[in-house]
Amino acid sequence: MSAHAPTDTIAAIATPPGRGAVGILRLSGPRAFDVATRIAGALPAGRSSALRAFRDAQGRIVDQGLVLCFAGPRSYTGEDVVELQGHGGPVVMDQLLRAACALGARAARAGEFSERAFINERLDLAQAEAVADLINAGSAAAARAAQRALDGELSRQVQGLTDELMSLRVFVEGALDFSDEDIDWLAHDGLHARLETLEANLRRLRADCERGRRLRDGLIVTLTGRPNVGKSTLLNALAGADIAIVTPIAGTTRDVLREHLDLDGLPVTAVDTAGLRDSDDPIEQEGVRRARQALEQAELALFVLDDREGFGAEDAAALSQLPPQLPVLRVHNKCDLSGCAPAREEIDGQVRLKLSAASGAGLDLLRMEIRRFAGLGDAAESPFSARSRHIDALRRTGEHLDAARQRLAQKTMPELAAEELRQAQDALGEITGRVSTEDLLGQIFASFCIGK
Ligand code: GDP
Repeated sequence: MSAHAPTDTIAAIATPPGRGAVGILRLSGPRAFDVATRIAGALPAGRSSALRAFRDAQGRIVDQGLVLCFAGPRSYTGEDVVELQGHGGPVVMDQLLRAACALGARAARAGEFSERAFINERLDLAQAEAVADLINAGSAAAARAAQRALDGELSRQVQGLTDELMSLRVFVEGALDFSDEDIDWLAHDGLHARLETLEANLRRLRADCERGRRLRDGLIVTLTGRPNVGKSTLLNALAGADIAIVTPIAGTTRDVLREHLDLDGLPVTAVDTAGLRDSDDPIEQEGVRRARQALEQAELALFVLDDREGFGAEDAAALSQLPPQLPVLRVHNKCDLSGCAPAREEIDGQVRLKLSAASGAGLDLLRMEIRRFAGLGDAAESPFSARSRHIDALRRTGEHLDAARQRLAQKTMPELAAEELRQAQDALGEITGRVSTEDLLGQIFASFCIGK
């Protein structure tokens, strides 16, 4: 760990901005009890609460509420922590924060409480990230996955792999010491079998992390196609509410609408874009420009067309305007009018769905297809939440293991194999923060909210 134990005391309003029944000011650090005593008088014993008047630095009463004390190291941050639970008005909370700062604390940066929990080894990095993921979860399933990561599920798996890797390194480095003797330790079948098992476990963890990342980050899906085919109606049907303005006049959708949907646990940002067509109307032209911008960020395009008309030349032209690498799912809408039953068809590996956005028939097929695309399929849950940072670390771990295997097979320079294994372990260590840099920590904690 690169960071040093902090010596100052931090304070932050831990409840969201605005008005609420209760507002919480949180203090952490060596002077937390001292600052709290000057605001609230005698403190209650640890882990019990007391009702107190809260005073500012000049001794004026600004509020009254509950005081809770947690003596370090058995606290969230590992330091002495106090919570002052007052009335949740912005003015009251601001006065309390000012009082704390005037009496010896300083305003905390975003994520600084969790950063201290990490520095004091109350949480590892993956768990600290899970705290933020839990707060930001876009669906109940994402929240449950974050809770499991916070509970240490991801960290335990990473630790398991680290232990396997460690014992492999001990074996290889031990064998290097015997390299003058004619026993060929490094060609030993057991070694290769262990390396293979390790690689298989790594792949499994990576697949779990991919699902966990999906649940955390969700999927950006764009609805596209010619005007009037029913994109807005489909978005409304998926969202279960009237968000887009639906009219029978072509070119109604002039702006880019974003809607956050919970697709059986998968958070989806659905983007409804202006019909991709040439127009003389400057407002519609602007809509088309924004549509193209939104398409650049999308991960999946639902290409909507009118099933009565089928896939025509105009559709082909609209389809050709999509970014070439963007995966496309064809949605034949208005099947109530074409007289076709809702269906999923696969032609030359290209999936197309027939449904009716207006009646809702076939929408379940679409939901399922999107989940399948996201790699979630029928799995209702992911074992834990994860981030692309974790997946990247696992990918690099895999690359080093692969390189180590090749070096071992060549038998020429086993030291290089040992070095690859060391680097694999370092990459793995980045997930839980055993190996980290100030830069990385700064980046991670800055994305947290203030007071956490
Ligand atoms: P957009 O321009 O692609 O967004 O199309 P809209 O969603 O505004 O729909 C255009 C028209 O088609 C509206 O009158 C909708 O009510 C109608 N519509 C959309 N989907 C369906 C459907 O599945 N069945 C039927 N019968 N009408 C639909």
